[in-house]
Amino acid sequence: MAKQALVIGAGIGGLATAIRLRLKGYDVTVFESNSYPGGKLHQKNQDGFRFDMGPSLFTMPWLVEELFQLAEKEPKEYFNYHQKKVICNYFWEDGTTFSASAAIHDFISEAATTFHEDPKKLEKYLLNNQKKYELTKGVFLEQSLHKLNTYLSSTTLKALARIGMMGIHTDLNSLNTRYFNNPKLVQLFNRFATYNGSSPYKTPGIMSMIPHLEMGLGTYFPKGGMHTIPMSLFKLAQNLGIGFHFNERVQEILVEQHQVIGIKTGDQEVKADVVVSNMDVYPTYKSLLKKQKAPERVLSQERSSSALIFYWGISKEFPQLDLHNIFFSEHYREEFKAIFEEKTLFDDPTVYINISSKEEASDAPMGSENWFVMINAPGNYGQNWEALIKKAKENILVKLSRILECDIASHIVTEMVLDPIGIENNTSSYRGALYGAASNSKFSAFLRHPNFSSTLKQLYFCGGSVHPGGGIPLCLLSAKIVADQIPEVTS
Ligand code: FAD
Repeated sequence: MAKQALVIGAGIGGLATAIRLRLKGYDVTVFESNSYPGGKLHQKNQDGFRFDMGPSLFTMPWLVEELFQLAEKEPKEYFNYHQKKVICNYFWEDGTTFSASAAIHDFISEAATTFHEDPKKLEKYLLNNQKKYELTKGVFLEQSLHKLNTYLSSTTLKALARIGMMGIHTDLNSLNTRYFNNPKLVQLFNRFATYNGSSPYKTPGIMSMIPHLEMGLGTYFPKGGMHTIPMSLFKLAQNLGIGFHFNERVQEILVEQHQVIGIKTGDQEVKADVVVSNMDVYPTYKSLLKKQKAPERVLSQERSSSALIFYWGISKEFPQLDLHNIFFSEHYREEFKAIFEEKTLFDDPTVYINISSKEEASDAPMGSENWFVMINAPGNYGQNWEALIKKAKENILVKLSRILECDIASHIVTEMVLDPIGIENNTSSYRGALYGAASNSKFSAFLRHPNFSSTLKQLYFCGGSVHPGGGIPLCLLSAKIVADQIPEVTS
């Protein structure tokens, strides 16, 4: 009989792991508590507008394509995308605006002019970011940090030899302040800490490699919107014969003598040779493995930030906006203090607006735009979200109306709201964290849960709450690391 692999959750990490295990010869079945695949990568339609509910920034598309290539399918038959020429439009309260070009020489010369900085410093900064990324990706992103081999590899030794230039012993803001005089440019580069749900005043300077993902490797837009990423993988998975059970919540992972032997859902027990949890690692232990000893130190890591999102149908077009837009807070440090220390929303938040109808006209009616308006938020610790959301909406509207010189409220024709409680309820993401554990310490990478259980045989973990971390590319890499640890089925 063929070997059975079960995957708990059809998030992006679960889908990619299912595909990889199928290609290794396993019979694979995915159990998903929602009625749809994709997890956080979900979409909704309302009053003629289409909204991607979760991720909006797409980088490293080749990690998606790789899955089709592994299955010997033509990626373009499933999934298409284009590269963006403008990475992001930035706005400040004093009227300063900056459009970040994807062409690196244009970015450098335009940033040097706008922020009165030396172009050579910009060039050096971006080059160092690239070096950091290239030195560390093989160690921190592409293999397990919890296997001896990783530490003996030449990639790791090369990275260790250059540890001095990584910025591990300083925080991102201090590193950026050392390079640049203009606080707006520092703020622009500090923002990248939020890409893994962390604070630039705490996350280590090595995170300055994150801008390289955008500026060096490019930003992309999938045809049909972000939701097509999991949907294309779901189609591939179905074509490969992977079984899916939707609306079926896994309630227990079955263990016998330190070995995982299957799972239990509402009405059935399913036996398996391998179980992979794509569910957040915290509830995996606390709900599905109640009888087992949990790795408390790992589970008690500070969680990443969450988000408050307003999905607004807007009855007007704004030519000064692009796909990605940022309206900066004037008090950035205080904003992160509010989120991570006071666990509340800040009155002058940095506002991100994503407008997919800029790329995909059918996402909004003619003459309108679909705005995904997001601010960073603390996780859910039982705050009075109703009051916080009401106040945040007022603050956001005042800020956007002031900077865009237009009464935004009068143009909202439809609205949906997603808060940290909603994010937690929709995907079991503990405290509504977007990216699992935060990277607010230099040890964070090492304290993330590994992609395997060190106490229970045949139990593996993928997705944003485990190594190498959150975000679409890292979740796809977690699937690869899991699959690399599971032996191929030989007949
Ligand atoms: P999830 O998407 O977390 O899915 C887990 C799945 O498991 C869910 O479908 C859930 O229903 C299912 N499940 C849970 N428990 C059970 C159970 N007991 N039984 C069965 N099924 C279960 N990333 C980016 O790269 N770019 C961005 O711009 C970006 N922006 C974001 C904005 C928002 C608002 C959010 C919420 C996230 C954002 N992220 C972004 C992060 C990104 O969405 C996540 O890192 C990634 O999608 C997580 O994927 P995952 O594989 O961990 O699974």
